[in-house]
Amino acid sequence: MDRRTWLQGLFVSAAAAAGVGLSARALAAAAPQSREIEALQKNWRTLLAEGVRPPAPTDKLKLSNEEWRKRLDRMQYNVLHEEGTERASTSALNNEKRAGVYSCAGCDLPLFTSEMKYDSGTGWPSYFTTIPGVFETKTDHHLLYPRTEYHCARCGGHHGHIFEDGPKPTGLRYCNNGVALKFIPKSAKA
Ligand SMILES: [Zn+2]
Repeated sequence: MDRRTWLQGLFVSAAAAAGVGLSARALAAAAPQSREIEALQKNWRTLLAEGVRPPAPTDKLKLSNEEWRKRLDRMQYNVLHEEGTERASTSALNNEKRAGVYSCAGCDLPLFTSEMKYDSGTGWPSYFTTIPGVFETKTDHHLLYPRTEYHCARCGGHHGHIFEDGPKPTGLRYCNNGVALKFIPKSAKA
């Protein structure tokens, strides 16, 4: 199922749950929203600082646990390689509003842009979509209920969980640990 079909599926099930019929006009209104998301995903490089040459998700980075420990600080290692969670409201990135790109702290793979970020009020940096192809997911059962865990496609580092209480049109919230991210402002002067 492609992303657009999936988004429309979400829209249809939301309408069905609300007990309302889905009009042709409502469907037409949903389409441009998903095009907006597609544009954010396609044009993410416009937020990249000049001279930055980021790696690709296919350029895999595999290191031993010992090598990761040397490369990362204690909190970064705990989150990225032990699926830890930083305490809420501790990341400076919660209040980061500048234009730019958020990359993986483990391997520098660009994951999100500033245009994909929103203030969820949860105390963790939150995004409603991602740069395409940069995450893999699995279901984890660390809490009483199953959650969708996501990790970096390049280095395997854990970043956070996906929740379905995000803003329209995706309805998704990528709840990311700030220590697992590096912010690269588009302009050093900003
Ligand atoms: Zn990574």
